[in-house]
Amino acid sequence: PSGLVWFRRDLRAHDQAALYRALTQCQQVYCTFVFDREILDTLPRADRRVEFIRASLVELDASLRALSGHTQGGLIVLHAVASDAIPALAESLGVQAVFANHDDEPQALERDSLVRTRLAAAGRAFHTFKDHTLLERSEVLTQTGKPYSVFTPYKNAWLKKIDAFQLKSYPVERHAHRLAARPLEHGQPVPTLASLGFETTALSQRQLPPGASGAQQLFDDFLERMERYDDTRNFPAIKGPSYLSVHLRFGTISPRLLARTAHRLMQEGNPGATTWLSELIWRDFYFQILHHHPHVAGHSFKPAYDAIQWESGPEADTLFAAWCEGRTGYPLVDAAMAQLNQTGYMHNRLRMVVASFLVKDLGLDWRRGEAYFAARLNDFDLAANNGGWQWASSSGCDAQPYFRIFNPVSQSEKFDPEGKFIRRYLPQLARLPNAALHAPWLARPLELAEAGVVLGQTYPQPVIDHDTARLRTLQRYAVVKTG
Ligand code: FAD
Repeated sequence: PSGLVWFRRDLRAHDQAALYRALTQCQQVYCTFVFDREILDTLPRADRRVEFIRASLVELDASLRALSGHTQGGLIVLHAVASDAIPALAESLGVQAVFANHDDEPQALERDSLVRTRLAAAGRAFHTFKDHTLLERSEVLTQTGKPYSVFTPYKNAWLKKIDAFQLKSYPVERHAHRLAARPLEHGQPVPTLASLGFETTALSQRQLPPGASGAQQLFDDFLERMERYDDTRNFPAIKGPSYLSVHLRFGTISPRLLARTAHRLMQEGNPGATTWLSELIWRDFYFQILHHHPHVAGHSFKPAYDAIQWESGPEADTLFAAWCEGRTGYPLVDAAMAQLNQTGYMHNRLRMVVASFLVKDLGLDWRRGEAYFAARLNDFDLAANNGGWQWASSSGCDAQPYFRIFNPVSQSEKFDPEGKFIRRYLPQLARLPNAALHAPWLARPLELAEAGVVLGQTYPQPVIDHDTARLRTLQRYAVVKTG
């Protein structure tokens, strides 16, 4: 029999579950990726992720050809509506089955169910596998068979369940001779950005090397400093985290490789590896939350929180625009938003700070921030993004209690004490002394003058007063207590 592997969030030729299964079950295996018009049509014409995917596909295509030994082999790349294109391609290739890895986002499930129905109508099978997460769906349940909604017990159960088999890689190479040559009618290479209707985002000028080789490069680099992750991960001016999130999102690196390495180092007593593995477990945690509670896409995990009245109207819209554009007058918040807008990445500590600021200082609905992140983050993943926003707004599972409200100035003093991060993204404040940098409106007039800062002109006055906002938020959230 022959099969077709449909790549989605798994853009690598090594240790890839669907690819491996297809190669072990079929004599001839074709590979495809669809630039799905239903997704692409909704995006702005310059989108770093489209460029990242495209560059990663060029490498994937080359890897598949190298593995198979065919110069004509490799990836069939289409630009179409995936739910139409996959059944049609399966038909034209005459394959018996399509192989793909699980994607549990609600829209992806809908798309896959349509594809499954259409394939079945033509007598073809659609096989899907776990690949994107280490443990998924209902693999980790409580003793009474319920999904966990609190992280620590989930993590303990996860650690008990994970074993060498789960972490083992799929030896794709062993069966790669079954990769089929790309049929002549699909002979075009990966389409250019322009032919997809997109503009370049100068991705190559970012420190974001795409593809499996880019991922490996970042991982090798991170391995050198993983031991210190615990001490460094909260400080945005330091190269602390791995920066692998976009690669995990698009599957240019195997999550099994990462977890296996971290797990081994943890057993050798590496403290950074223990904490880092925990972050990978958070990732699985939010995926299983989305799987068991798909209502979180759009609604609060805890329904009572949907009764909260958020600020709305033109004034709220002005505040929202100030947040998006990094003009709130709170330097750490503004520098963080500048990092997001300029690079598509934001440090985890800062994601927590700006999310809390949007919800608990500006009084705006967390869903507005969630949507802005979804549009801008290179690593945007519905499960983790929604989890992070619901954590910050206290509406989520295992979220921060509603009365815990980050103070954007003390967060700044604590996590960017020398203002290195702020100065990098807000050069207009660079000459302020450290003590004045975190709250310029409290600086002495002479300090401002010497640094060339004119509040309201070169840098905004704060758009709200944190202490007043804090009290309003406590009132706003009272409905949750009574509700
Ligand atoms: P590292 O610190 O090196 O962590 C390693 C990996 O663990 C990450 O790449 C990521 O895959 C995973 N991870 C780490 N922290 C978390 C977490 N809290 N939840 C789930 N997975 C985690 N992460 C995304 O991948 N996509 C998102 O859309 C996203 N949105 C977020 C929104 C908010 C409001 C918050 C507070 C967090 C969000 N995160 C999201 C989680 C986290 O901020 C990023 O995963 C992390 O900053 C990525 O950087 P890194 O790869 O250098 O992380």
